[in-house]
Amino acid sequence: MRILVTNDDGYLAGGILTLARAAAGLGDVTVVAPDREQSATSHSLTLHYPLRVRSTSKGVQVVDGTPTDCVMLAIGELLEDRPDFVLSGVNHGPNLGDDVLYSGTVAAAMEATILGIPAIAVSYAGKDHERLGDWDAVLVQLLEQLVHRTDFPAETLLNVNLPAVRPDEVAGVRVTSLGRRAYVGSLTRAADPNGREYFWIGGGESKWWGGPDSDFRAIHENFISVTPLHLDLTNYRLMEGLSGWGLKL
Ligand code: MN
Repeated sequence: MRILVTNDDGYLAGGILTLARAAAGLGDVTVVAPDREQSATSHSLTLHYPLRVRSTSKGVQVVDGTPTDCVMLAIGELLEDRPDFVLSGVNHGPNLGDDVLYSGTVAAAMEATILGIPAIAVSYAGKDHERLGDWDAVLVQLLEQLVHRTDFPAETLLNVNLPAVRPDEVAGVRVTSLGRRAYVGSLTRAADPNGREYFWIGGGESKWWGGPDSDFRAIHENFISVTPLHLDLTNYRLMEGLSGWGLKL
């Protein structure tokens, strides 16, 4: 099995080393990853400057672009053979609920899904990223059950989140839906040392809500959450109602 590993935290992040190590037990791994932090770049594609690729002494291919660029280049040009599976992560931080819409980690898996290759995004909800190496065995155990499935669903990716506990404290694995999250106080308006106004997005507090099967709840209760995501954002339930608006020219 040929496995492509990528991420959005950059090729030096501890999380991608963990994921590549875990994947190495499942097949031939190629790592193609951004050269720098690309978190929250979502499904962004680089169109307005050329992309450069270099190889590290460990054979990692480093791209000066986004996670989506990495997957597109890897599958279209860099890899000799089309991968059987794409893994993205392990992200330093959770990707739950509405956050999947901003996530570069999830977008990389989405890009693989669009290109017809099964994909999984993996994120770690904890803050002690230097301890991600402890998750190798859990990841191998989980991924073994997923990557070999012959009935892995088409047009769907799996969004996996690891709870913010030690691996031996995980309560189990739960199949989940996306919850909802709202940020409070995450916009800062201030003045720089020259007195010029600036704005900064980030920080603040977040609140989540969602049903008993939501990804937030699973992580809150120390479960690994596995959410199937499909890319069709159509609100089918609203189609009939919208037709009733009688839009015309
Ligand atoms: Mn990230």
